[in-house]
Amino acid sequence: MTNFNNSKMNVDALFLGPKSENAVFFREMMEYAVTEHMHWRSGYHPEDPEYVTTVERYAPEYRDTLYRTEGILNQLSSKLKTTSIPWFSPRYLGHMNADTLMISNLAYVMAMMYNPNNCAQESSPTTTVLELEAGADLCAMFGYDPNRAWGHITSGGTVANYEGLWVARNIKTLPLAIAKHPQAKQLLKDSSEKALLNMQTSAVLDLIDELKKRGLFEDVREMTCRGEGVEQGRLGKLLVPQSKHYSWLKAMDILGLGQQNIVQLPVDGSYRTDTDQMRQIVFSLIERGEPILAIVAVVGTTETGAIDNVAELIELRRECEARFGVSFYIHIDAAYAGYACAMFRDENNQFIEYDTLIKRYHSEGIFPSDVIWPKPDVYQSFKALQEADSITVDPHKVGFIPYAAGAICMKDKRIVDLISYHAAYVFEEVAEKGRKADKQQNVLLGSSIMEGSKAGATAAAVWAAHRLVPLNILGYGKVIAAGLTTANWMIESMNHCDVFKIEDREFQIVAMPSPDFHMVNFMFKEVGNSSLERQNQLNKRLYELCSYAAGRSYTNNFLTSSTSLTSEEYGNNPRNFCREMGFSDQEWDKTQSLYVLRAAIMTHCLRDKQHFTAFWEELRNIFEGKLQQLIDEENKLTHSKQKIAL
Ligand SMILES: *Cc1c(COP(=O)(O)O)cnc(C)c1O
Repeated sequence: MTNFNNSKMNVDALFLGPKSENAVFFREMMEYAVTEHMHWRSGYHPEDPEYVTTVERYAPEYRDTLYRTEGILNQLSSKLKTTSIPWFSPRYLGHMNADTLMISNLAYVMAMMYNPNNCAQESSPTTTVLELEAGADLCAMFGYDPNRAWGHITSGGTVANYEGLWVARNIKTLPLAIAKHPQAKQLLKDSSEKALLNMQTSAVLDLIDELKKRGLFEDVREMTCRGEGVEQGRLGKLLVPQSKHYSWLKAMDILGLGQQNIVQLPVDGSYRTDTDQMRQIVFSLIERGEPILAIVAVVGTTETGAIDNVAELIELRRECEARFGVSFYIHIDAAYAGYACAMFRDENNQFIEYDTLIKRYHSEGIFPSDVIWPKPDVYQSFKALQEADSITVDPHKVGFIPYAAGAICMKDKRIVDLISYHAAYVFEEVAEKGRKADKQQNVLLGSSIMEGSKAGATAAAVWAAHRLVPLNILGYGKVIAAGLTTANWMIESMNHCDVFKIEDREFQIVAMPSPDFHMVNFMFKEVGNSSLERQNQLNKRLYELCSYAAGRSYTNNFLTSSTSLTSEEYGNNPRNFCREMGFSDQEWDKTQSLYVLRAAIMTHCLRDKQHFTAFWEELRNIFEGKLQQLIDEENKLTHSKQKIAL
């Protein structure tokens, strides 16, 4: 196949654009997608008769059916236009959403016309292969050995996390099952409970090979938790940061592991997992003889975009293995920021040295000279991803691909045998053949993954995106850098913004300092207000005015999202920021929660400083208008209260 990796790519040419700037091209290609499919149909056995004649097509009820089709589509269109969220616009700065890649939308529609089902290759001879290739692309981006790794598409990060925990759970019980099996147990050097429950992932996977050689694997597999169920609490604790996505709670519930077996790792002042406390918790679990089912690190937390110190977690595992003979599974939840790993890879998929990287960013115009990204420890975290056992990543977030596209990558594909539902030897062949992209094979994705029937169109969308936008510094690197640049400028502008004077009141806008990724949390503060509760109230009401909750998504001039940083999730870390804003510690102790406006800045449109400056001016006016609206409402309210009082 052609290597596109070195061709020049223009970011604006990737998207339909906020004004549908690429309308002509997009329409032409959309028509191409549909026309090609219609040719495909009509060219299939031209000797077959037409089943509907022209005369029949003029029959009244036939016409009527078509008119009603049109009518319903009119209705749907008007509903969509009225209440959908304008993600394509830089005026939308909220969840991890932006314009989606034209190529993915087109590839999706093109493939969707053929209605492939990636559950089995039998029903998706083309798109199953594309899914395996797209999965391999992601594995390569993370630095996994393409000959050993395996990745596939899921409906989203949630299901990818379920699958990560599923393999972690099953692998934990394999040594226990081996110990129970009369012939298999010779394979174990040490069958103490401690040894069985604290094995290295790679050692367990080697045991699978041994079991297969002896023809015992399938028997033993049925003696794992998959056959015998989960013994309450025996598999130990899942360690996840306090800042976790709630899919981890659901995962523990669904997999029968119990939410009570979650140990939450506290976060530090930068909202990352506090590595010192993590070490202490891990050591104390080891001391108590409690096994660790898995540790999850988050690369791009959903609320603050924090990137956990993956390198330190990997190092901690090494230390535990060396000092205590204890190991554990490591899963990375990189649903949000995973695609940013592309920013570190050169045209030959090599991880670029830090200094070279920063130089290239600036010399090749990927970042302007005033933006330095990433922080050195964030760099180290991305570099360490290749050591993790599995990684969740969402193409439908920072991959700019339409829903529903999540993905999971696993470092060593032998692990799939623990969850797969075909005879173990088949998968070996299947992965082999999938890699060779041999269209003749019968790959059964549905029997090796969480889901069953699934859209082949999604695979086409992800695959096509990766072909046009390479997973390296010049491809996704450029697109993601646009959002990061804008996020940096936005924080700058907010923190240097003059106060808003509305009637006799004054409001400041404040951004939380230097996030690891492009999540900007910001808030308004009334000058002179010392009540944190009132502060939260103010921002909550602003959110309502700047969100779909205002009931006017399309006519609204700005849309954002919001979240509460609570002590439950973040300990006392938000207190520092509250202090900086002038709230006393007593206020924090009383309220235990800081309400913030939350903007994932993914737009590609504002990477030019002039565009940004003009946009910021407009945004300032918008904010002023929203504050005015809020005060008008307040005045009206006090006025009517006074009336009632009279
Ligand atoms: C978005 C997100 C998820 C869930 O992914 P979905 O695609 O919404 O299912 C999980 N973890 C993190 C960190 C996320 O940001």
